[in-house]
Amino acid sequence: MHSELETPVRVRFAPSPTGHPHLGNIRAALFNWLFARHHGGKFVLRIEDTDVARKVEGAVDTIVGSLRWLGLDWDEGPYFQSQRSATYRDIAHRLLQEGHTYSCYCSAERLEAMRQEQAKRKQPPRYDRRCRNLSQQERAQLEASGITPVVRFKTPHEGETTVHDLIHGAVAFKHATLDDFVLLKSDGYPTYHLANVIDDHLMAISHVLRGVEWLSSTPRHVLLYGALDWQPPLFAHLPMILGPDRAKLSKRHGAATIIDYQEQGYLPEAMVNFLALLGWSLDDHTELLTREELIEHFSLDRVGKTGAIFDKDKLEWMNGVYMRRLSLDEFVGRALPFLDRGLPESVQRPLDEGYVHQVMSLIQERARTLAEVPELTDFFFLDDVQYDTDLLLGKDLDTQSAINAITTTLHSLQGVAHWDASLLEAVLRPLAKELGLSTRAFFGLLRVAVTGRTAAPPLFQTMEVLGQEKCLRRLSAALQLLSGSS
Ligand code: GLU
Repeated sequence: MHSELETPVRVRFAPSPTGHPHLGNIRAALFNWLFARHHGGKFVLRIEDTDVARKVEGAVDTIVGSLRWLGLDWDEGPYFQSQRSATYRDIAHRLLQEGHTYSCYCSAERLEAMRQEQAKRKQPPRYDRRCRNLSQQERAQLEASGITPVVRFKTPHEGETTVHDLIHGAVAFKHATLDDFVLLKSDGYPTYHLANVIDDHLMAISHVLRGVEWLSSTPRHVLLYGALDWQPPLFAHLPMILGPDRAKLSKRHGAATIIDYQEQGYLPEAMVNFLALLGWSLDDHTELLTREELIEHFSLDRVGKTGAIFDKDKLEWMNGVYMRRLSLDEFVGRALPFLDRGLPESVQRPLDEGYVHQVMSLIQERARTLAEVPELTDFFFLDDVQYDTDLLLGKDLDTQSAINAITTTLHSLQGVAHWDASLLEAVLRPLAKELGLSTRAFFGLLRVAVTGRTAAPPLFQTMEVLGQEKCLRRLSAALQLLSGSS
């Protein structure tokens, strides 16, 4: 087998804009990018958009947006295959002249009937090569009838092609299973196989790193390289990404497009770390690696053969780790757009940055994603909070003791000169005893009264940030609610 590094490293990410990129696509982009950066090579972006019927509006933008978001910068491109048709046609013409291909005039109906017949007989779908052996005369007749043919590759009938894969080793494919695959469609566009091989050659790609679902296409590519008398690049097929049930990862497992993860408030640095471990590892225990560490250590030797399991909980955990690693300023900067979008409309914009800083300092440790931040903190920004009496009383309190507790609290807090957490604690902690309540019940009551919820950041710090005026107003409102229901 060739060594990894005979030629300068040039790799590519070659997505088809047939949908928004999902984890598998971007994992391939990341591995190529890491490989290029590790070897000081080039990372090329190529949009494989020759399948006109399956093109999805906006997909190129989300591909580019996803790469930018993750910081996977490319050195060349984006090249668009749709703009390179003349090149593919020229090379297809050369293949025809050299006897490697033939025109096929079979109608869609004939091919469909053949497929159905094969399915019935439980045979794999395969073109029966009828047009491979047309006589001159038959061909001339078909030509004259105005049918636009497709161009097929003459796959050898016998023998096999071995793919030397840097991850999977030598994998042999019998020619009998390969079919006379189409190179040019009747609309004149090349198929994936033709355009992919031509571009990888013309763009001097040294290594093709792509998902293992493309391994079965690779013998066709190797045959094409042979017919064109070109040296194929080295191939490395990346393991499949699986759900926890070991089935191919899909939406059902909670997998989403990369843009969805961005919108759900995952950090790009966490995403990069997480994706890098989907099929690659440094050793059997290291989970957290910075971008620089990934570049330094990435190698194909440690890419696995077997499926990589996508674990959503691990992603959330990792995201939390990266969120806590940010400086407060940085965290605020990332959270602001989410707050802007996610807080109720009644909250006045623009948000007060100083206040946002204070609130964020209480939440940074707790939020798992940026998208959680607005719902975790909305009570800081709203004028009033809504809840019902049951929440206020919890399990331990009756209405009368809650009324007493809040009345006493209001009384004690009115005179507090410095509204800070330690002073509030010094005042409120002894009150629980005076009132004959457990701190759990008493603080629980105050927490619901000032935040409207049972789980919030530490009570005294929360009260400090909310400020005296708002706390007293909310405590009075709680009192009113209780008095109304007693
Ligand atoms: N256009 C193919 C895709 O969408 C590229 C596969 C390859 O890397 O060869 O994934």
